[in-house]
Amino acid sequence: MSTPPNTVPAVVNAPPPRCYHRREPGSSMPCGELAVVARLSPDWFAVAYFCREHAAPGDVEIPAEHVFRRVGLQLEVYIAGAGMSDAVARAEAVHRLDRAIQAIGGVADIAAVRSVMVRSWVQPQAREPIGAGKGRE
Ligand SMILES: [Zn+2]
Repeated sequence: MSTPPNTVPAVVNAPPPRCYHRREPGSSMPCGELAVVARLSPDWFAVAYFCREHAAPGDVEIPAEHVFRRVGLQLEVYIAGAGMSDAVARAEAVHRLDRAIQAIGGVADIAAVRSVMVRSWVQPQAREPIGAGKGRE
């Protein structure tokens, strides 16, 4: 197997690899579950990762040092504080966001957290309870 060039950065803040399996040929949505094995390739950029369900004979344990594509997204997320305390609202929001990102196999790198008192004219809509059916705490 070839090794990646030095231009491929080594990172510490890395999410675990996720399964590459496509449930339907040509689908743009892979399985995406956390991977447990690697399918090695002679080319360093063609190593693939698979979950337990989609593992195949010949797959190997994921090497401690492994190469994958890390996707970063920049966005603003707003959540209503569940109280009036700035510190409590920020801490709770960070905790909930971190849990949500972990649930999709990601790692949060939160650069800033702020809360401000706001007014809104948006009328609340009937919704399912937050986390309904997904193991609320
Ligand atoms: Zn899978």
